Amino acid sequence: MDYQAKIARNVAAIPRSGIRDFFDLVQGREGVISLGVGEPDFTTPWHIREAAIYSLEKGQTTYTSNLGLLSLRRAISRYGAGFFEVDYDPAAEVLVTVGVSEGLDLALRALLDPGDEVVFHEPCYVSYSPSIALAHGRAVAVETRKEDAFSLDPVQLAAAITPRTRVLMLNFPTNPTGAVASRGDLEGIARLAIKHDLIVITDEIYSELRYDDEKHLSIAALPGMKERTILLHGFSKAFAMTGFRLGYACAPQPIIEAMMRIHQYAMLCAPIMSQNAAIEALENGGPALCAMRDSYHQRRDFLVKRLNEIGLDCHLPGGAFYVFPDIRKTGLTSKEFAFGLLEAEEVAAVPGSAFGPSGEGFLRCCYATGMADLRTAMERMDRYVQSLRA
Ligand code: PLP
Repeated sequence: MDYQAKIARNVAAIPRSGIRDFFDLVQGREGVISLGVGEPDFTTPWHIREAAIYSLEKGQTTYTSNLGLLSLRRAISRYGAGFFEVDYDPAAEVLVTVGVSEGLDLALRALLDPGDEVVFHEPCYVSYSPSIALAHGRAVAVETRKEDAFSLDPVQLAAAITPRTRVLMLNFPTNPTGAVASRGDLEGIARLAIKHDLIVITDEIYSELRYDDEKHLSIAALPGMKERTILLHGFSKAFAMTGFRLGYACAPQPIIEAMMRIHQYAMLCAPIMSQNAAIEALENGGPALCAMRDSYHQRRDFLVKRLNEIGLDCHLPGGAFYVFPDIRKTGLTSKEFAFGLLEAEEVAAVPGSAFGPSGEGFLRCCYATGMADLRTAMERMDRYVQSLRA
């Protein structure tokens, strides 16, 4: 049978993730230090794991409400009021999802009609463009540049907006650049959203992982924005809970209702054990989160210093757990550099081109990796870069 002919055209057209392709090569190779997949090296704090165990022990193994446990939605609402300074009604404006991944998919499917345009900043998380395509939308990338610390310039953003634009998609701190948005930039973006009557999807999964002294500001907190923003957040990164597959969306009730309709048929609900663990994370996870953040902070400073010493220009990212050094001086493409580094020195980092064409010339190194490995990785990277000069 010609299976290719059987696969839906928009699915056949989406590329495989550049990260996965690269890491399939790394799998099973001994001695490789991976600065690759964006996953905390910390195990989920014990008290959070215990909450999941108690859930099982007490026989809490059932479906929950489609929206998620009300006790969790209340905890999310309290956390949102404190951290994001935005009030969401736990009964109607919060939806618990299977990770931010599902939240993103639901938001796009709830908002887009075929051909609607979604404008987002790039380099960006690998799933944005495919998720838009799967929702039958059109992905419109706005390039951000190292020279501007990968910030999103509202003027450039304005130039990408057309009568077909329905959604702006933001991600600060940004994967893969670690960029953060200033209040001024967010206010400029908010003015555009209001002027063009757009919905903003803001993926703030790294919002607790900030290392500049600025407090994280969500665009949802700006005047007139809560009513047109879908705020996506989750537990994978800050609480080291990737395997729990838990996230949430906060938005006006009619949007949550639309997202919930898709969720109830596609997913039904997020796993109850994970939901119980998430309550514990929100209520008592602060100290563990701060300790992990302090450790990432130290690692970021170490990596940025070493990469610049090695001769790979690296801006100081304000958040997330990635550095994005500029490898253009080596004359190699990001794929050539990454594959060469893997072959010669057994260090795996992701070619910048995996995050869109504007990531070309860069390398993403994730520092959710222990300090000893980071030191060795930098020694090996130094040797590799020197070998390219020889
Ligand atoms: N959004 C961004 C920007 C990410 O970097 C990731 C994971 O790397 C996700 C979403 C997916 O998060 P989750 O594990 O909550 O599905």
